[in-house]
Amino acid sequence: MAHAPRPRPASGEAASTVGGATPLCPVCRRRAGAADLLGGSGLTDDLVRLVTANMPGWQPELGLCRECVRRFAKAHAYLVAHHPRLAGEAQGILPTPLRLGALERYKGRGVTVAFLDSGFHAHPDLVGPRDRILRYVDVTSPRGGRREDLEQPEESAWHGMMTSVVACGNGRLSGGLYRGLASEAELVLVKCGSIRRIAHDDIRRGFEWVLRNRKRYNIRIVNVSCGGDYEASYLRDSLSQAADRATREGLLVCAAVGNLGHLPHHPVLPPASAPSALTVGGLDDKNRLAFSGYDVYHSSYGPTVDGLQKPEVIAPGIWVAAPILPGTPTARQAHLLMQLAAAKEEELPRLLSENRGIDPQLDAAAGEAPAALRSRVEAQRRAQNVISEHYKHVDGTSFAAPIVASVAAQMLEAQPALRPEQLKRLLITTARRLPEVDVDRQGWGVIDAEAAVLAAASTT
Ligand SMILES: [Zn+2]
Repeated sequence: MAHAPRPRPASGEAASTVGGATPLCPVCRRRAGAADLLGGSGLTDDLVRLVTANMPGWQPELGLCRECVRRFAKAHAYLVAHHPRLAGEAQGILPTPLRLGALERYKGRGVTVAFLDSGFHAHPDLVGPRDRILRYVDVTSPRGGRREDLEQPEESAWHGMMTSVVACGNGRLSGGLYRGLASEAELVLVKCGSIRRIAHDDIRRGFEWVLRNRKRYNIRIVNVSCGGDYEASYLRDSLSQAADRATREGLLVCAAVGNLGHLPHHPVLPPASAPSALTVGGLDDKNRLAFSGYDVYHSSYGPTVDGLQKPEVIAPGIWVAAPILPGTPTARQAHLLMQLAAAKEEELPRLLSENRGIDPQLDAAAGEAPAALRSRVEAQRRAQNVISEHYKHVDGTSFAAPIVASVAAQMLEAQPALRPEQLKRLLITTARRLPEVDVDRQGWGVIDAEAAVLAAASTT
């Protein structure tokens, strides 16, 4: 769990050729031939600024490998195109495609992803300009759920709204910045519970609904960011068996492994414990692009009751941008915080008195001097994880799993004939292990979106 050591300057050389051994790139810590390390004058100022912001302690003399130069140049181009303020600065939450180095030309076109979750919302990032929600169903309700239920800002809608938008949102409310990798995929939303509880058998009912309707909606991927009630062997457990049957019938099951890795007992529950599921743990990339110094999130991990190693891969599970549910007190609070952050200092007392009742912390600060109010506003914005009027940053393997689902949707766009076991194997074989982290916690390592999609595209 230790962080990667800080790179040490090597005298005179463009990079650390310590002891004559093959040098490591000081940024990604992959081995590079000496001729492959670029340093000093070979790097543009923009690139140097971006690498420095993402890798504290790095200096141009240390150099970096060609692969890092390519990745950072790509990241810089993305930032300039979508959000110039982020380019070269170590602030703000980085968009998921950028952090994964994803290929921009794939967007999950022609692929339907089903989400099993506590509830959903027809968020603008999913329904505008084209409504991509093919179907909404509630397997816990006798009337089965109606499309208009997706307009209600109720508590149960939060979780599934966030998981579905993390994978398939098009960033409509952020000028395209916070989009998912599968921003043109279609969605089927299957409500299996509520904010209070998601029952084991209701998740199974969700799978069964998907299996009955997969051909009708061309469903290829099922994301499950919720777990059952108890550990169980797949030999007997009907939820695990439903997940395995889904795989057999051609659906990739992406399952969140859970968030209990900091406890002595850290169970992997069905369906994440099912052998065929692609089970996803969390990566903590520190909201940086450095590709080293990464850590694992406190995800649950195996062995499962059947003795299987889970998770198979990890993906960003913290510092993930996710939407705020419109029409809720949280949305009003975020709107006010961003309005105050943009206001002139002398306007703060008036704005606060006009907006009493939205944020109790700010109400309590009324009467303080404008400069003190300014720092209150900033502290509150950080405490609430608000990154813009419409987005917060969130954490949990609930978000790592849909990120992997969105990579799989890109892979299926590139090569529609791939079967779920092929998708799983390609995602595993292209993943990169974190050298400082136990294998139990990361499986085959961090998914590499670009390598996985390229591998899919070249599969015949
Ligand atoms: Zn490198």
